[in-house]
Amino acid sequence: MRAFTYERARSPREAAAAVAADPTARFIAGGTNLLDLMKLEIETPARLVDVGGLKLDQIAPTRDGGLRIGALVRNTDLAADKRVRKDYGVLSRALLAGASGQLRNKATTAGNLLQRTRCPYFYDTNMPCNKRSPGAGCAAIGGFTRSLAVLGASEACIATHPSDMAVALRLLDATVETVAADGTERSIPIADFHRLPGETPQVETALARGELITAVTLPKPIGGVHAYRKVRDRASYAFALVSVASVIHKDGSGRVALGGVAHRPWRVEAAEGLMPRGAKAISEGLLAGARTTAQNAFKLTLAQRAIGAAIIEARA
Ligand SMILES: Cc1cc2nc3c(=O)[nH]c(=O)nc-3n(C[C@H](O)[C@H](O)[C@H](O)COP(=O)(O)OP(=O)(O)OC[C@H]3O[C@@H](n4cnc5c(N)ncnc54)[C@H](O)[C@@H]3O)c2cc1C
Ligand code: SF4
Repeated sequence: MRAFTYERARSPREAAAAVAADPTARFIAGGTNLLDLMKLEIETPARLVDVGGLKLDQIAPTRDGGLRIGALVRNTDLAADKRVRKDYGVLSRALLAGASGQLRNKATTAGNLLQRTRCPYFYDTNMPCNKRSPGAGCAAIGGFTRSLAVLGASEACIATHPSDMAVALRLLDATVETVAADGTERSIPIADFHRLPGETPQVETALARGELITAVTLPKPIGGVHAYRKVRDRASYAFALVSVASVIHKDGSGRVALGGVAHRPWRVEAAEGLMPRGAKAISEGLLAGARTTAQNAFKLTLAQRAIGAAIIEARA
């Protein structure tokens, strides 16, 4: 690991200003992703700005009946919150499907959204990777693609986003609240937050340099049966090959979002009108335009079957 300096931010704006002014600086929250990347020298910040002491760890109701989740709320606390379990069950289930109890005790809401891909070539610094070293090439294309994207990929990158929580937030139409160095606040719809790779896979979100996430806001509850199905190689402590977040109502209408298939959580609102016609119909809409390899084509079947299982569960 490279040497770095460490400081504690005293206010969100001060944290944003520190990172905005110094290209070698990074925020650190729980550290469960960033420190691993630093040990491998994939991330090499010279300065860490710890945001852990900022008072951003509360979950509070909003005026319009939703919930505001502070950026520093731990994944364990969010999953266990009574209001989340009652009204946003898909979020609680997605969180509990991720990582391990110890990691969830440290991991924060903002850090989880910003965790980086688990593409094996991103971690192998002997291999070319456009995300790690822009312009270097992509070792995954033509390589081992079993875990990689089947939707929204580009000629530069076929990585997937690894967060379970983000899939549930996409389903629930969450909004990401931020503050910039000059004090400007922004509300970014989650649909616009994570980017597809295009020609710049190193740019993963809509955040500007130094922009600090302060909270994630959920709209008022939408009812229905909430489910999160994660299909993976091991029953625990493994990232999704495919995951399905769903909210299904009694008349068969509802919402579906997929994880493990693209560079961002994958939801196609226009296809959700097909929900009452069953898993095959909604899958065709959701997976339209998929590009697969011989190694990862199974993800399409897996997604359809996992959606089918969610529909059966909702009817039971
Ligand atoms: C072994 C292992 C297994 C895992 N399995 C899963 C899994 O199955 N599913 C899953 O979803 N996740 C999994 N994870 C990932 C885990 O959920 C993330 O590491 C964690 O959520 C990151 O949160 P953190 O607070 O520790 O982030 P950090 O590591 O502190 O930060 C991550 C990134 O976010 C930035 N950041 C942090 N806070 C802010 C902020 N407020 N504003 C702007 N930028 C910020 C940092 O600069 C950094 O770039 C796993 C991790 C490990 C190590
Ligand atoms: S798929 Fe993306 S993250 Fe993986 S090697 Fe290619 S450029 Fe890097």
